[in-house]
Amino acid sequence: MEKERFNVADIFGENVFNDTVMQERLPKKVYKNLKKTIEEGKELDLETADVIAHEMKEWAIEKGATHYTHWFLPLTGVTAEKHDSFISAPLPSGKVLMSFSGKELIKGEPDASSFPSGGLRATFEARGYTAWDCTSPAFVRQDAAGATLCIPTAFCSYTGESLDQKTPLLRSMEAINVQGLRLLRLFGNTTSKKVTPSVGVEQEYFLVDGKKFLERKDLIYTGRTLFGAMPPKGQELDDHYFGTIRQRIAAFMNEVNIELWKVGVSSKTQHNEVAPAQHELAPIYAEANIAVDHNQIIMQTLKRIACEHGMKCLLHEKPFAGVNGSGKHNNWSIITDDGINMLDPGTTPHENIQFLLVLTCILKAVNRHADLLRESAADPGNDHRLGANEAPPAIISVFLGEQLEDVLEQLISTGEATHSLEGGKLETGVKTLPELTKDATDRNRTSPFAFTGNKFEFRMVGSRDSVASANIVLNTIVAEAFSEACDILEGAADFKKAVHDLIKEYAIENQRIIFNGDGYSDAWVEEAKRRGLPNIKSMVEAIPATVTDKAIDLFEKFGVFTRIELESRAEIQYESYSKAINIEARTMIDMASKQFIPAVMKYTKELAETVIAVEKAGGDASVQAEVLSSVSVLLKEAKEALSTLKTVTEEASVKKDGSDKAKFYYEAVVPAMNALRTPIDELEMIVDKEIWPMPSYGDLIFEV
Ligand code: ADP
Ligand code: MG
Repeated sequence: MEKERFNVADIFGENVFNDTVMQERLPKKVYKNLKKTIEEGKELDLETADVIAHEMKEWAIEKGATHYTHWFLPLTGVTAEKHDSFISAPLPSGKVLMSFSGKELIKGEPDASSFPSGGLRATFEARGYTAWDCTSPAFVRQDAAGATLCIPTAFCSYTGESLDQKTPLLRSMEAINVQGLRLLRLFGNTTSKKVTPSVGVEQEYFLVDGKKFLERKDLIYTGRTLFGAMPPKGQELDDHYFGTIRQRIAAFMNEVNIELWKVGVSSKTQHNEVAPAQHELAPIYAEANIAVDHNQIIMQTLKRIACEHGMKCLLHEKPFAGVNGSGKHNNWSIITDDGINMLDPGTTPHENIQFLLVLTCILKAVNRHADLLRESAADPGNDHRLGANEAPPAIISVFLGEQLEDVLEQLISTGEATHSLEGGKLETGVKTLPELTKDATDRNRTSPFAFTGNKFEFRMVGSRDSVASANIVLNTIVAEAFSEACDILEGAADFKKAVHDLIKEYAIENQRIIFNGDGYSDAWVEEAKRRGLPNIKSMVEAIPATVTDKAIDLFEKFGVFTRIELESRAEIQYESYSKAINIEARTMIDMASKQFIPAVMKYTKELAETVIAVEKAGGDASVQAEVLSSVSVLLKEAKEALSTLKTVTEEASVKKDGSDKAKFYYEAVVPAMNALRTPIDELEMIVDKEIWPMPSYGDLIFEV
C-alpha cells in the first residue's frame, strides 16, 4: 500500500506558535518584550499582549481555528479547557469580526467552583483566574471539534492560591534556578544565566479493541478490569517486550507520531512493553513545564487516535491483574542555559568535585524527603503497582551504579576518591562485530530512583497521573539541599577543604538511601526496614507526608506552596481516593448483580436440567452434578461477598469527606471488593464461555 509521503522536518511544530513563528510575525520590539518575559520572567504589559494576541489569532485562523481555549491542569490530574470562539458581537451590518485581545490572551476567568479545591474555595466564591504561561508555547489542535488554539495556562483562585499543577511547578523551577546558580557560582561559573530542570517522560499504555472495551462496564467506568481470570498465557515468555509491532498497532503509532510532531511534541521512541497489548512512547526531553504539558498532550493524543483506529487506549496503572501495570519514567536532570548538565559526571567523576557535590546533595534530598517523593506518585491506580508484587517497589532508594558507588565508597572509607572504575571493552566473542565499549555502569530496572548516565530516572509515577507533582517535589527538595550546601560553602574560609568535607559528610549521612541490588526481592524489604527507610504501601498512607512540618517548612521556604495550599491538596487527594474506590465498588456491585450472578444462575439451571435429563435417560450424571455443586458453592460465596460489599460501600459513602473516609475505603471497601472478585474469577474458569457475559482477559489482551 502506497502511503502518503511527508517530511518529518516539514511538519514538526507546524501547529505551534513557536519562536520561529513569533520572530516572523511579531514586530521586533514586541518579540523582544515577550522574550524578556519568557527568559527573565519580566511582566508582560497589556499593549504588548494585545499585539501578540492579534498575531496569534491571525496565525491560528490561518490554521483553521475557530475557537481558543485556556488549557490548564486543575487538580483532577487531567487537563481542562473551556472553548470560546473568536467571534465578536454581530455588527450592525449583521457580520461578525474575529477578535482576540491581549486581555483575553493573558487572563481568563473560568468558574472555578467545579474544580477540586480542597476547601480553598466555597462554591459561592466561584471566581478563579487563569493566566497565560508564555514559557510553554500555544498550539493549534485539530480534532473532531475543528481546530482550536490552545493556550497553556496557570489556574489560581480569587485569593491567589494555586488550584493547578502548573503554578507550583513554575515556582519550583524558579527555586532550583536560584539555588542552582548559587552553587555554580561557588565553582567559579560566572557565565550561566539560568538553570532549568529538564524532563523526559516515558509513557506506558495498553491498547484494546474498541468493541470489546464497550462490553466491559469496568473498563468504561473505571479504566481497569475489576474482574477477570488470567488466560492460559500471560507475559511469562517475555515475547512481547520489544517484539515486532503488529500492523494495526503500527498504523496507530504512525498517526500518533504525526499528530504529536505537528504540535511540537518530539515523539522519539516507541516499542512494545512487557505485558501483552502494552506499549510505550517517549519524547525527547524538554524543560520541565513543557515536558509536563507535552505529557498531557501525549495522553490525549493516544486516546483520540486509538478511538479513530477502533481501539481504546488504557492509561490506567493496572488495567489487568496478573500482568504488569503501566507507569511513567520521569527522567530528570538540571541543565544551564549554556548547555552544562549539572548531572554529567564526566569520564572521571572522582575528580569532578562539582558533580560530587550535586550528587550528594541529591542523595540528601531524596533521603530526607523520601516520603514526599513517594506521595508525589500516589494515585488510586498506582496502589496496585507500588508495594504490590510489581515494579517499582514502594520503598524509595537510589541506584548509583558501580562506578559512582565505588567513588563514594572511597570517599567514605579513606576520605579521598582517587580513581573511577572504567567501562572497558565488551567481549562478544564474535570477530566480525565491531568492538563495543561497555558503560562503566550496568542498568538496574528495579530501582525507583536510578542514576542513568547524566540524569536521574524516577520510575514511580503512575501512567495516568500528571508528572507535575513528582517534578515539583524533585525541584524543591534539591533546591533545598543546594541552598543548605551554599549556606555553608559561601562562608567557608578554605573552600576546597570545606567542599571536600561536605561531600564526605553528605555521603556518609545519606548512605542508607543507596541500594544497587534487586529492588523486587523480599530481602530488600527486610533490609530497608533495618535501615529505617519508609515503606509506604498505599496512597492513603502516603498522603500525610504532604502536610508534615517538614514538608510545610520546605515548600514555604521556597515559595512553592503555602501551608493552606498543602492542606487543600491533601484534602483533594483523600477525596479523589474515596471517589475512585466508590466508583469501582459500585461498578462491581452493578456487574455482579446484573451480569455475573444472572449468567451463573442461568448456567446452574442448564446444568440442573442436564443432570435430570441424563439421569432420566439412565446415564451417569455425576460429572455434571459435581460441576453444578462447585458452581453453586462459588455462586453462594459471590452472593454473600456482594452483600458485604454493598453494606460497606453504603457505610463509606455516607461518611464525611476526609482522611477517615479514605481510610475506610482502603481498609474496608477494598478488601470487600477483592472478596467479591475471587469467586467470580473462579467461576469464569468453570462456566461455559458462551454464557459468560463479557470478553475475557484473553480476548482483551491477545486479540487486539
Ligand atoms: P532509556 O535508556 O532509559 O530508555 P533514553 O535515553 O531512551 O533512556 O531516554 C529516556 C528519556 O530520557 C527520553 O525522554 C530522553 O529524552 C530523556 N533524557 C535523556 N537525557 C536526558 C537528560 N539529560 N535529562 C532529562 N531527560 C533526559
Ligand atoms: Mg528509561
